[in-house]
Amino acid sequence: PTFEYEMIRRRIMRDIQEVWYFITANMNELKSKPNTNPSAVSIIKKVLLLGFEYKRTLANNIEKLTEVDGFNDWRNNEITDLSNIVQTRLHYLQNPLNCENARKLVCTISYGCGFGCQMHHLISCMILAYGMQRTLLLESTGWQYHRGGWNQVFMPLSKNCTTISKGSIDNWPGTNNSKIIRIFPFTYILPRSQYLPLAVPEDLFVRLKTIHGNPTVWWIGQLLKYIWKPNNLTTNYINGKTKKLDMKSPIVGVHIRRTDKIINEAKYIAIEEYMKKVDEYYSLIEIKSNVTKRRVYIATDDFNVITEAKAKYPHYEIFYNENIPKIPETNPIHSNDNILDVILDIHVLVNSNFLVCTFSSNIGRLAYALKQINYVDASTKCVSLDGVYVYIQQNPNQCKTILNHKAQTTDEIDLVFGDIINITQYTLDGYSLGTNTCGFGCQMHHLISYMILAYGMQRTLILQSTG
Ligand code: GDP
Repeated sequence: PTFEYEMIRRRIMRDIQEVWYFITANMNELKSKPNTNPSAVSIIKKVLLLGFEYKRTLANNIEKLTEVDGFNDWRNNEITDLSNIVQTRLHYLQNPLNCENARKLVCTISYGCGFGCQMHHLISCMILAYGMQRTLLLESTGWQYHRGGWNQVFMPLSKNCTTISKGSIDNWPGTNNSKIIRIFPFTYILPRSQYLPLAVPEDLFVRLKTIHGNPTVWWIGQLLKYIWKPNNLTTNYINGKTKKLDMKSPIVGVHIRRTDKIINEAKYIAIEEYMKKVDEYYSLIEIKSNVTKRRVYIATDDFNVITEAKAKYPHYEIFYNENIPKIPETNPIHSNDNILDVILDIHVLVNSNFLVCTFSSNIGRLAYALKQINYVDASTKCVSLDGVYVYIQQNPNQCKTILNHKAQTTDEIDLVFGDIINITQYTLDGYSLGTNTCGFGCQMHHLISYMILAYGMQRTLILQSTG
């Protein structure tokens, strides 16, 4: 398929979702206004109900198009090839012929945050090591989640190069000549590196952009694929527990983060909001398959969520990890949690047919990135209830404007084709928060465009420039 075909196909899928967000957000706002009269409220309800039917038919048709357009073999081969390239490169870097001489980056995960956050820090280290063509060494003894370190839970990151060789160690960023660079766990890596997300390897960019709706998440998924290799002990634990759970497909994975997270870092979101998304997913797949039972696996750090879900959703088959602490953990690092249970929960979320979570949580984002490993493009196999995928260490998320837009309210900004916008948040109501980065040169070009239009239309151009 051509690059344009794949881009347009995915853009339609995304726009169906965005239009629906836009309609629902505005309709719900109107519905909740005290002076909206009851007959208008009943029309709004109808629009939301039937509008959803239109939305799911449209979404189903575009999915069908993807199945019958004849490109699926190409998609499978292409994504396998790209994955093989990345995995081979990582293997090469992590297993140097001569470990003693290899240039290295040393990273620690004993970091003052939870497991998901530590995994993201490790991924940042891998990205930097890959960019600088260094072997990554992991220091993990005394790790909060397992005093014995990483290898007690996962496979080592290298077969032959796991210890720091003799020689001086420079602190990040070091220089080209530094044999070993150590990177301490910073909340924000400074100085910044061009290799950090949303960047992806340059030589794979065009291929990735053609095949995948979110190349950055795919790339992070590939780095995770390399490190996320449970050792025998962990694998046996996961297999034993999943066998006992005996979950059938389809199943939706739901991650509900509560306890310390909702004190300062994230909003409390009621279970009904999560289940609404679960129901939407099932309504969508019920167009083409017969679902006899709606199932969910709820991963959470708060057992009350399970009790509430069971009481409110008796018609659902609800699965969960029986080891969720009955008295919630109050320590934000959650270092008393059993790492095997955290990994088990993530494993089930990743392998579910659809994921409902919050991207404010590292666990939600981790599961989403890991999900990419199992599919050609799993960028639409998940919904976050609180915003867009962000990577803690990411550089600005820049988007190019494809249509002109004149601000309709003071909350909106003018956009001109080609403007570069720094996006800070997608608000799931059809809007995004961002700033227009158009600098002086760009503004001059806008002015020239207006002059061209005025000239062509034989009009006098009046320039408004106060402020
Ligand atoms: P964040 O705080 O949600 O961004 O994610 P972190 O991974 O950084 O920290 C949250 C910690 O809470 C995790 O490391 C776990 O110990 C615990 N936790 C959160 N959600 C779950 C869950 O669904 N299952 C289990 N077993 N533990 C969880």
